[in-house]
Amino acid sequence: MITTKNPYNNQEIKSYKYHSTKEVENILDKAEQTFITWKTVSIKKRTSLLENLANKLEDNKEEYANLMTTEMGKPISQSIAEIDKCIWLCDFYIKNAEDFLADNIIKTDAKESFISYDPLGVVLAVMPWNYPFWQVMRFAVPSLTAGNVGLLKHASNVTGTALAIQKLFKDAGYPEGCFQTLLVDHNQIEDIIESNILKAVTLTGSEVAGKNIAAIAGKNLKKTVLELGGNNACVVFDDADIDKHITTMVKARMQNTGQSCIAAKRFIVSDKIYDKFLNRFKEEITNLKSGNPSEEDTYIGVMAREDLAEELEQQVKDSVKMGAKIYYGGKRNKAYYPPTIITEVNENMPVFKEETFGPVAAVIKAKNNDQAIDLAVNSRFGLGTMIFTENTSKIYDVINKIPDGALFINDMVKSDPRLPFGGTKASGYGRELSKEGILEFVNIKTVYIN
Ligand code: NAP
Repeated sequence: MITTKNPYNNQEIKSYKYHSTKEVENILDKAEQTFITWKTVSIKKRTSLLENLANKLEDNKEEYANLMTTEMGKPISQSIAEIDKCIWLCDFYIKNAEDFLADNIIKTDAKESFISYDPLGVVLAVMPWNYPFWQVMRFAVPSLTAGNVGLLKHASNVTGTALAIQKLFKDAGYPEGCFQTLLVDHNQIEDIIESNILKAVTLTGSEVAGKNIAAIAGKNLKKTVLELGGNNACVVFDDADIDKHITTMVKARMQNTGQSCIAAKRFIVSDKIYDKFLNRFKEEITNLKSGNPSEEDTYIGVMAREDLAEELEQQVKDSVKMGAKIYYGGKRNKAYYPPTIITEVNENMPVFKEETFGPVAAVIKAKNNDQAIDLAVNSRFGLGTMIFTENTSKIYDVINKIPDGALFINDMVKSDPRLPFGGTKASGYGRELSKEGILEFVNIKTVYIN
């Protein structure tokens, strides 16, 4: 049995029965059957369904936003923004999917040669709770438009959202087997991946989950895309315009109550500008309103589960034992962890080495800009780096020193349907969004006619 709970007041929301083995088999069969016809539907028709999807998202925006806020504590204004972003995603693929999936003619010795992009079939998406709509849609919208069918195993604490997304696709006119939600424990995933019906799997989640999924998929030679954790550095060079960018830097850490893979987790600040940065950073953070996630002006809600707040608290405590200082915040109350600044951080501490998945900013002083870059790249993760500097002409020398999936200058690392999104190292592999994302789950087929 899955029981969802509102992390703000600890009240139970609803209970759901897990699917039985037989029900899972039926779902897989229905997906396979649907794929046979869905792959023959024209891309024009598929993109017209995306229009319905965008309209339904618009019509039901408040209902979906409330559901997310209730299930995982996201402040309501940020839940609304998440649905708006899903609509933007639909619009992007409505405009571009046909181009991205068109045959690509390549001149060779043949009379005619080209690349065609065929769908793979049934794809499983194992998804996290932190952006319960967005993470699912950024997989489903391009993948279904490319002709695949999707199965969702969502994080169990957002089961209501998972079922709402299944209904959304149905109400938008997609054949029923195109997008189905599985109510299964993650221990049941192995059997699903092993099924001959399943052709590929994508996971957005932790490194532990990623390794497990990759091992099972590897054993069965199934394609994977892994979007895992991050420990992004926000590098502040000594010529950064702090006043201009401080709200962006704060948002980069604190939005979604700090529970974002691409959040700035380590603020690495050049010595010359350190004091100014720290003063302004604290000033801005003091102004963030914590409170009831359902209230319009709340910026910091609760974390999605109390055990996650406890885990964060432990990372801070362990770092303090090693000499770090709590400069601001740091007192947990059940699932609420306040916006917190930690200073005197070194490279051996958990708040530097590990992903902190909550509103905790580790601030590190670097001797100069060069050392700041060295510290930034000292990470097992490789999702993204942001650098703030007024001298952008010099930044071209730095680009190839950053081994991450993204580098943002004078802005926070963010996802944008027009740009590929994904990581390196322990942050995973593969890309979502843009042209690269829609081509992850296709057979890139060479056709040679003589
Ligand atoms: P999680 O615990 O890894 O859960 C993610 C999904 O994987 C859930 O559906 C979960 O199911 C399942 N799962 C958990 N352990 C598993 C295992 N051993 N084998 C197979 N599946 C497993 O992650 P989370 O706490 O929901 O999300 C936070 C993590 O996701 C952070 O590390 C964050 O950085 C990462 N993330 C990455 C991105 C990105 O794009 N790179 C985006 C968002 C989040 P159950 O709920 O049933 O356990």
